[in-house]
Amino acid sequence: MASPAYEKILDVQALDLSLTQLRHRHANHPTRQTLSELNSEREQMMVVGAGINERHHDLERQRKRFEDEAALIKDRHEGINNKLYGGEVTASKELLALQDEAASLKEQQTGLEDQELELMEELDAVSSERSDHNGKLQSLDDRIGSSEQDLAGQLSELESEIVEVEANRLAAAGEADPSLLEQYEKLRPQYDGVTVARLTNGSCDGCHIQLSAVALDQLMKSAEDAVVTCEECGRMLVR
Ligand SMILES: [Zn+2]
Repeated sequence: MASPAYEKILDVQALDLSLTQLRHRHANHPTRQTLSELNSEREQMMVVGAGINERHHDLERQRKRFEDEAALIKDRHEGINNKLYGGEVTASKELLALQDEAASLKEQQTGLEDQELELMEELDAVSSERSDHNGKLQSLDDRIGSSEQDLAGQLSELESEIVEVEANRLAAAGEADPSLLEQYEKLRPQYDGVTVARLTNGSCDGCHIQLSAVALDQLMKSAEDAVVTCEECGRMLVR
């Protein structure tokens, strides 16, 4: 059993240790990693989505061009038909030339319409690819949303715990012996959690090295709340 003065310092140390652990859990919460993976998956999906949109856009532009060309040729074809059947042209040579041109235009128009149909099939395929992709993106966004919500809830629980432990730490420090606390604060940055070590069977439980007989003798003779440090590691020692 440590002296009451040291018991308070050990309380402060225990609270500091749990604060370190809570802050570590806050900073390295596993859901943060999950979210970062989901977000990079999303970034990749956005690139794929942009590619699909670009293909859709290109096909739509081509289809529109074929449609416009087909409409133009159809107009010209109609114009020629009007001449052919309007009775204005009577010379057989001219009629033959117009008939040839009409046939050629008809052929071009059919060709363009066929190409437009092919493009429309491709467009349908790309459209359904796009809607599949958007569905996947939506479900990924749902997963991201619920992970964010989970994380926020869990972090807020940790934050409340941290606030509570900080308050307890403040109270414990207020009750501790000022000179022991000052020494503890001064040494703390050098040690990983254990700044105040207990003496167990003559050895320091910070570095696990047996104290010399002289050091042990001095320790036993010193006052209960005196600042005694381990001759090996320099940690504060509690009898
Ligand atoms: Zn030691």
